[in-house]
Amino acid sequence: MKPMLQLVDVHRTYQIGESTVQALRGVSVTIERGEFVAIMGASGSGKSSLLQILGLLDNPDKGEFLMFGKNVNTLTEDEQAGVRNSVAGFVFQQFHLLKRMSILENVRLPHIYSGLKGDFHKEATERLRQVGLEARVDHTPNQLSGGEQQRVAIARSLIRDPLIIFADEPTGNLDSKNSAEIMKIFKALHEQGKTVIMVTHENDIAAYAGRVIVMKDGVIISDERRTGLEPPVVVAGEGGFELQGAGKGSLWQDGRFTGFMAQAFQSILANKMRSFLSVLGILVGVASVIAMMALGEGAKAAMQEQLKSMGSNMLSIRGGSAKIHGAAQGAGAVARFTFIDVDDIASLHTLVKNAAGVVNGNAQIVYGNKNWSSTLTGVGFDYGTMRATMPTVGRWFTREEIQKRDKLAIIGVTVVKELFGSTNPLGKTIKINRINFMVIGISPAKGFSGPQDEDDVVMIPVTTAMYRVLGKDYLSSIFVEVASPTLIEQAKVAVSEQIRKRHRLKEGDDSFNIRDMTEIQKMLTSTTQTMSLLLGSIAAISLLVGGIGIMNIMLVSVTERTREIGLRKAIGARKSDIMLQFLVESVGLTISGGFIGVLAGIGISLVLSYFAGWAVKTSLISVVLATTFSALIGVFFGLWPAKKAAELNPLEALRYE
Ligand code: ADP
Ligand code: MG
Repeated sequence: MKPMLQLVDVHRTYQIGESTVQALRGVSVTIERGEFVAIMGASGSGKSSLLQILGLLDNPDKGEFLMFGKNVNTLTEDEQAGVRNSVAGFVFQQFHLLKRMSILENVRLPHIYSGLKGDFHKEATERLRQVGLEARVDHTPNQLSGGEQQRVAIARSLIRDPLIIFADEPTGNLDSKNSAEIMKIFKALHEQGKTVIMVTHENDIAAYAGRVIVMKDGVIISDERRTGLEPPVVVAGEGGFELQGAGKGSLWQDGRFTGFMAQAFQSILANKMRSFLSVLGILVGVASVIAMMALGEGAKAAMQEQLKSMGSNMLSIRGGSAKIHGAAQGAGAVARFTFIDVDDIASLHTLVKNAAGVVNGNAQIVYGNKNWSSTLTGVGFDYGTMRATMPTVGRWFTREEIQKRDKLAIIGVTVVKELFGSTNPLGKTIKINRINFMVIGISPAKGFSGPQDEDDVVMIPVTTAMYRVLGKDYLSSIFVEVASPTLIEQAKVAVSEQIRKRHRLKEGDDSFNIRDMTEIQKMLTSTTQTMSLLLGSIAAISLLVGGIGIMNIMLVSVTERTREIGLRKAIGARKSDIMLQFLVESVGLTISGGFIGVLAGIGISLVLSYFAGWAVKTSLISVVLATTFSALIGVFFGLWPAKKAAELNPLEALRYE
């Protein structure tokens, strides 16, 4: 049968800068199952180095280490971690318990990396009973004495029911009474069939062992078995030994991930203030982005509303060339539109919502002894709603009145001011080009559009304007309201086809032109785009700064927890486990920061809209984007610290002060 552990001419040299230390120089030893071995010798003689190689925490630079005949030094780092998890239990002089966790959680920690399912609460309690601490399961390590802490560490080394227990000066930090207690536990374990390999420099501690190996200057100088303490009957076979060992289960199924989440949560909460400060950058970034986006959206919605009231889906059709403003070129006649054209266009149902013919002219308006010259617009019934000029005072024309060519007028506020001052114009009679009209309404104030006063207008029925006032038998222009903003181009094509057919015009004939309001819309879109770009860069900068803050705090966290990482690796954590643990933590941080940021952002926009009366509109997409982005930042900026943690050498990490 192959020996359990066999070292063949093992060398180990440490390099510190220029100088080298030969800790082991040709050690050959065989250890069988069930032995209780004490490794003794002066300080610096290589005891720990030997134990670390036997425990697969370190690899020799020369010589071979065989486990049941298999060379285990050729295994990858992760495979060795798996072997450590399933075959070895470690007890250190400094206990190496994780202070934030209860002792029960400490004891079951190796199971996170075992790939086995379950919470192992019962097993951990059982191990704690074995070392006489079942009453203290909820306590944290700080609430325990040194001897009790070491007993927890022993319970932890037993949780995976390992073949071998490695103990490096387990009583080195304890008084003699506690030392005796600990040794009693080791003795009992040995009697139950466990292999115990222990480093000590005290003779009375070594007296518990059945075999004492003495080292000096990196070599074994004596190796003797004591009578009366023979190894118990060795069970044949390789027991639970498996090269790949732990961690073959899936991340989700064996509960590793939820374990990491719980740990991340614990660690974030353990440093509440620090966590909060470190996510402040992300919080402020996300909050301002949410608030600004809400404001931007609100402003956009308000602008669009206004644009709609101006008639943003409007086409205007005029006779004449588009190339030279208002005038036709060459021999091409100016197309003259009539009500037949209006009906034609209005019949394009899917594209056109409304069409109205308009006739324009100049008017001399007289009221009493006052005189004012203004623009006259002859309008159809639908014009009021289409151009948003329904009177706020008085009323609009009825269809009948328009048909009957009634002499009624709706005037703009400029005209009211010039002719009526403060008297009420409703029901009064004015003269337009010497014809009497009755004022029935005042159109809503619109202000200036460029140099043109939009309120200096007089509207009368289009029929009255054509046949009674201006003496024209054709329309000046036709206004078309397109069914939806997306149909504007299509409507333009259809309308011009209709006109060409009716007026028998050739393709390319420019005796009429169609204008739309898309130019204004384009301008609006580009303004919004510029704003979004600006907001986007502010977001990017603040999130970048926030991310660097996260990276910084995670680096601090990794340094702070170097020994914890060393311990985790010693008990079987693979690189990916450590990496994931820290990534989960940084993402946890950034997501919580992002989440508080979203709430703060919504709060800010609500307050702004309440006090400043600004329109705000929080969009779900901005919330989702902000949260996703903060998670990505956690991954991105957490990656380097996590990688740093994952690549730590377990031994150096454990020795870190
Ligand atoms: P012991 O446990 O018997 O006191 P060690 O095995 O820890 O001795 O160390 C043996 C020699 O190797 C010592 O001289 C020690 O200084 C050196 N040594 C141990 N570990 C390291 C290390 N990580 N880096 C450099 N030198 C080391
Ligand atoms: Mg040592």
